[in-house]
Amino acid sequence: MADRRYVIVGNGFAGTTCAEQLRKADPACSIVLFADEPYCLYNRIALPPLLRKQVTEQKVIMRDVAWHEKHGIDLRLSTRVDKVNVAEKTVVANGREEPWDALLIATGGRPNPATAPGAAGAGNVYNFQYMDDTLAISRALETAKVAVAVGGSFIAYELAEAFVSRGVETHWLIRGPRFLRRMLDEAAGELLHMAARADGVHLHFGEEVREFVRSNGAVTKIVTTTGQTIETDLVGIGLGLTINMELCEGTGIETRTGIVTDEHLETAVPGIFAAGDAAEFYDPIAEQHYRMGTWNSAGAHGKLAAHNMAAAATGADRKQFDTVPEYSSLVFSGQTITQFGLSPEYRDDIETEMEIDRDKGWYRALYFLEDRFVGAVLIGKGNRAGKRRYLDAIKTKARFPKSERRALFAWTAE
Ligand SMILES: Cc1cc2nc3c(=O)[nH]c(=O)nc-3n(C[C@H](O)[C@H](O)[C@H](O)COP(=O)(O)OP(=O)(O)OC[C@H]3O[C@@H](n4cnc5c(N)ncnc54)[C@H](O)[C@@H]3O)c2cc1C
Repeated sequence: MADRRYVIVGNGFAGTTCAEQLRKADPACSIVLFADEPYCLYNRIALPPLLRKQVTEQKVIMRDVAWHEKHGIDLRLSTRVDKVNVAEKTVVANGREEPWDALLIATGGRPNPATAPGAAGAGNVYNFQYMDDTLAISRALETAKVAVAVGGSFIAYELAEAFVSRGVETHWLIRGPRFLRRMLDEAAGELLHMAARADGVHLHFGEEVREFVRSNGAVTKIVTTTGQTIETDLVGIGLGLTINMELCEGTGIETRTGIVTDEHLETAVPGIFAAGDAAEFYDPIAEQHYRMGTWNSAGAHGKLAAHNMAAAATGADRKQFDTVPEYSSLVFSGQTITQFGLSPEYRDDIETEMEIDRDKGWYRALYFLEDRFVGAVLIGKGNRAGKRRYLDAIKTKARFPKSERRALFAWTAE
C-alpha cells in the first residue's frame, strides 16, 4: 500500500494526540495538522491556573514546533480549514487542497458571546477559551478593582474563582437557581455556593445582564434583568460552547449536538473521523450517543481515532471506545467536585440515590438507569477513595436492585 496521508483539523489535545499516535502506528505515513490558532498544543485546563498566576505561560505550552518536525508532523499554524470535499478526499485551506486517505475533525467548540446590548465590540468583555483570551483577561486584572462573571457553567465558575483569587471584588451572575443546574441538585449547589461565598464571591441568582453600559468603548457597568446596577472594570462570559461543525455541511456527515460518530469515532462518511469536544460519539458502556467536553476524553478520543484511522495500514483490528469519561476540579479554595459516567445532564430518566453530610461538606449522588449503575457526582475533600470501584462497576455494567443501591455509598470511604 502506498504511504497513507492523514489530515487532522484542530491541534487541541484530541488532534495533537491523534497525530502523535498516528506517527507511532504508521511510521511511513504523512500527517498534516491544521491549527487556526497561532500556538502549538497548550494545556487548556491549565488556563485557569495561568489566569490565577499560579503557573507561567511556558508551563502551559505542551509542544513546540521542533517537536512536530521531529515527529514528521506537518503543522500548519494560523491556518483555517474552510471545506471538506468528500468526493475528491481533500480539505481546502487558504485556497489550497490537501488530500487525505483518512481525516480527523477535532475542531472543538467556540464560546458563545454575550448578546445583551452593549456587549458586541466592547474592549473589556471577554470569553475564556483560548490562550489569547487568558492573556487579555490577565492584563485587564492587573488594574481592575471589580469584575463580573456571567453564566452557570464551569467556565463562569473558573472566571469567578480567578477574579477573586487576583484580589478583585467579584460578582457572579447566574441565570438559574444554582451553578451547573442541569447536573446538580439544590443540596449540591448549596455546598458549592458556600465555598464561593467563603472565598468572598458575591453571588447573584436568577440574574442575567440586560445591558452593558459603555463609555469610550469599554463597559463601565452592567444592568441586570432585575434592575440592579453593578459598576465593573471587566466582564467574563461563560455561556457555553457552539460546536465547530460547519465543515460537515454538505458532506453527508450527520451532526446533532456534535459530529455524530460510531463507537470507533468514525462518522457516517467512511474514512472521516471526529474526536474530542466536537464529537457526539457512541459509548458502548453507556449504550448511547453523547458529547463529553473534558480533557481526558479528548486525549482518549485522539488515541482511539489514530488507532482506527491507521487500521487499514497496520492491519490491526479496530477498537471501540471503552473509557468512562470523568472530570475533576477544585471549586474555590474549599471544595472539590468529581463527575464520571452519565448524570441527569445527559438524560432525564436517570434515578438518583443521594447522601449529604453538611458538617464534612460531602455530597454524593449515584446514578442508575433501570438497575445499572451508570455514573456519580462526588463533592467534598477526601470523598473519592472508592472511585476506582465505581468506575469498574460502570464498565462491567453492574446491576443493583433498589434495595442494594445505598450500600454503594460505603465505597467512597474505602
Ligand atoms: C478555561 C477552560 C478550563 C477547562 N478546565 C477543564 C478541566 O478542569 N477538566 C477537564 O476535563 N476539561 C476542562 N476543560 C475542557 C477541555 O479543555 C476540553 O474538553 C478539551 O481541551 C477539548 O479538546 P479538543 O482537542 O477536543 O478541542 P479544542 O481544545 O477546542 O481544540 C480544537 C482546536 O481546533 C481549532 N479549530 C477549530 N476549527 C478549525 C478549522 N476549521 N481549522 C483549523 N483549526 C480549527 C480550534 O481553534 C482549537 O484550537 C476546560 C476548558 C477551558 C476552556
